[in-house]
Amino acid sequence: MYSELEFIGDINVGKLVRWLRMMGYDTSLFKGDDDSEIVTAALEEGRVILTRDTGLVERHLITSGRVRAVLLKSEKPEEQVKELSVKLKISSSLNPFTRCIECNLPLVARSKEEVEGKVPPYVLKTQEVFNECPHCHRIYWRGTHWRAMQKRLERLVGSNVQGS
Ligand SMILES: [Zn+2]
Repeated sequence: MYSELEFIGDINVGKLVRWLRMMGYDTSLFKGDDDSEIVTAALEEGRVILTRDTGLVERHLITSGRVRAVLLKSEKPEEQVKELSVKLKISSSLNPFTRCIECNLPLVARSKEEVEGKVPPYVLKTQEVFNECPHCHRIYWRGTHWRAMQKRLERLVGSNVQGS
């Protein structure tokens, strides 16, 4: 059941939103400033609210349990990932690096030929797997940055195994 978790992040946890997208979770970012709108969006789209706003989580739809929300205690995004992994058992191994960090859209597989000219020549030479965001057209590949982020994720939430 946890694999179906979808989130909506308040603007005050924007970096956490990017981490969750990197882990493959469908996570939208709420940019408005009217609390009732994020609660309505969460209700309509079945998303879990992520916020650092204590006033927000006291709203009736949340206290009555109709909308699920997690109040993050830490200011640090990496600590927030840890908090979430304890509370909701999120996993870094489910669909990591399958979603655009900027747009929240699922990435599309691309061949070497298709990304030629769009990535540095060295990357084209040394990488085999490429993915593209259908919206912003950013190309993702599994280079050194990817490996470093994967290690950080494993350290933060590594012990959670999905589906068990
Ligand atoms: Zn994108």
